[in-house]
Amino acid sequence: MTATFLPFTRPSIDEETIAEVAKVLRSGWITSGPKVLAFETALSDYCGGHPVRVFNSGTATLEVALRLAGVGAGDTVITTPLTWVATANVILEVGATPVFVDVDPVTRNIDLDKLEAAVTPQTKAIIPVDLAGLPVDRDRLYAIAHKHGLRVIEDAAQAFGASWNGQPIGSSGDFVSFSFHANKNLTTSEGGALVLPADIDTGLCERLRLQGVRRFPDGGMDVDVLGGKFNLTDIAATIGLGQMKHLAAFTARRRELARRYFAGIDPALGLELPVADFSNSNWHMFQVLLPAGMDRGKFIAAMKEKGIGIGVHYPALHLFSLYRALGFREGDFPHAEDIGHRTITLPLFPAMRDSDVDRVCIALVGVLAAKASHVT
Ligand SMILES: *Cc1c(COP(=O)(O)O)cnc(C)c1O
Repeated sequence: MTATFLPFTRPSIDEETIAEVAKVLRSGWITSGPKVLAFETALSDYCGGHPVRVFNSGTATLEVALRLAGVGAGDTVITTPLTWVATANVILEVGATPVFVDVDPVTRNIDLDKLEAAVTPQTKAIIPVDLAGLPVDRDRLYAIAHKHGLRVIEDAAQAFGASWNGQPIGSSGDFVSFSFHANKNLTTSEGGALVLPADIDTGLCERLRLQGVRRFPDGGMDVDVLGGKFNLTDIAATIGLGQMKHLAAFTARRRELARRYFAGIDPALGLELPVADFSNSNWHMFQVLLPAGMDRGKFIAAMKEKGIGIGVHYPALHLFSLYRALGFREGDFPHAEDIGHRTITLPLFPAMRDSDVDRVCIALVGVLAAKASHVT
């Protein structure tokens, strides 16, 4: 019997949510409306009552956060080179300059021991990223930010459902940005949410989301700021509302599956495992590093032959052509580069069975034993 293909991730959408989406489609109102407001309320409740506004992507969310934080030309923003490229692209998008700080090889998140040395008078903000759902140490991060008067825009795209000090990520902090892309722990197909700090005008946030338009009770309107076209649809918000009911169960199941990987991966294979965190991480991804010198392309192809999907998240982004053109070079951030070359993402999603994890662990033995001869 050949087993069906196991992708590295797959969303879980229940039938009730599908029926609710059908209702919206039949309702005559399919763009932003009551479902968006309901979703924002549900997210705000989850985030300790802080105001939350939803967007059509996590990228738009980050860009608006930077604008609300007053970041623009002449400013620098500190972030990690080991993230989805959106994190750095938005800095360029608002006319500011990204400054990268290498990652800690253990957590694979921005190295807080190196962060302070990167702060200059031009630094306006920090964008920490919780890679794979493992939170950056919020206590140390905010201590540094407060000491230097910097804004923080948490790129928690991968950390919805994760926590810090027993509280959900999003329930404290400065700006907190989430993504609801199809692969994230909670999805709206595409979408994002921004948790706003108390000093930020929610009305301005809404205007930056939709063409800068301000409407008056008499039917008139004005535009006093350049806004984008970043609103979420009621169709997407309905998916999000349906997903919220499962968030705790999704996170719990991901943690169980991650534990099973730790127990099941043969230590003799020489894979570098992630931090075994079962209180904070939401296990957005289970990422291991291949032994140095192994051909990752061949490894991925061999796993695919065994019916197993492998992801790569991510090559160090400062080595992309766009960033090389800004002056970044090989060797600038050795840990991010090394992890970027060797990282692979194993299948992990709530609907996976225990036996799927076992199948991956067995396949790893077969493929890595065969590949050992290719190590240079
Ligand atoms: C997914 C993701 C984003 C962007 O979110 P989109 O909804 O795809 O725009 C930004 N940063 C990180 C770390 C992400 O994983």
